Amino acid sequence: MKRFLPVLLSFLLLLSGCAKEQPPAQLTMFSMNTVMDLKIWGEEGDTAAQQIMQLCSRLEKNWSATDPDSLLSRLNRGEQAELTPEQKSLLEAVEQLSLRTGGAFDPKLHGVSQLWDFTGESPRVPVEKELQAALKVPQWDMGGSLKGYAGQKAAELLATMKVQRAILNLGGNIQTFGEKPDGSDWVIGVQNPDGGDYLGYVHVKGTAAVVTSGDYQRYFEENGVRYHHILDPETGYPAASGLRSVTVICRDGLTADCLSTALFVMGLEEGAAFWRESSDFEAVFVTEDGKIHATEGAGLSGCEYEVIGK
Ligand code: AMP
Ligand code: MG
Repeated sequence: MKRFLPVLLSFLLLLSGCAKEQPPAQLTMFSMNTVMDLKIWGEEGDTAAQQIMQLCSRLEKNWSATDPDSLLSRLNRGEQAELTPEQKSLLEAVEQLSLRTGGAFDPKLHGVSQLWDFTGESPRVPVEKELQAALKVPQWDMGGSLKGYAGQKAAELLATMKVQRAILNLGGNIQTFGEKPDGSDWVIGVQNPDGGDYLGYVHVKGTAAVVTSGDYQRYFEENGVRYHHILDPETGYPAASGLRSVTVICRDGLTADCLSTALFVMGLEEGAAFWRESSDFEAVFVTEDGKIHATEGAGLSGCEYEVIGK
């Protein structure tokens, strides 16, 4: 027994070491007009959380549509502004995604959004003439893409640090990073547009983005009508596509964010056709009549749904 004692002791030590993983670094902050929650496991978790907070502040400062001093506001006023290669490639990427979605994702609807004023004190239904005029003046708005991009940049940052894994909730845009120690999936709830329990759960492995666009996220009601913040670029009115929400699962956060907005505008049929032509994302659609449709690779559980096949 004496001979085996050191072996037994080190085995027990190893076991207790496994069981006692350090709790994650956690940070809650308000940025980009929303609450963000970071959970990061690993030696440099705290530093990583601080750096992600700074990253989000930096992105917000550059791309805010409401701050008159932001880079984006200067671009919208037609001022000459020096862009870094990274800023240039972000704008090129959103333009590219706009083309890819046939304009359903339109990163230049700021003038129209401003008329509706969804985030302001007194949102209102603009008159047709105002909408038509605003549609003719393209103005940058990163509201449909920036949180996804932030998640992606945060994951890139985490990859350079002593961090095992992380789950970042950037105002409902979820970014996962790394594998769980037991190899199990990250499980992410799909919100019920009417509130209450999750409708179902999306399962992803490793680093991925799970991004939802929904009519319940930002809206106001007037005379019993709900006016939400996802606009049809053809009319300037809230997209009336028969959907309550779209969740996109994609390796690339920026793509996930732009596509969730675009698929919401397209609606179920067009969105499913768009998915069939693509190979870089999966999607869950919740329709106005409360039905759930999910593409075959979406990894949805916990609910009944119709499968969208290739
Ligand atoms: P999301 O919640 O990602 O779907 O983005 C919605 C936000 O993106 C809105 O609050 C607007 O700032 C902006 N937006 C609205 N409609 C569109 C659209 N069709 N394409 C791109 N951005 C949009
Ligand atoms: Mg979006």
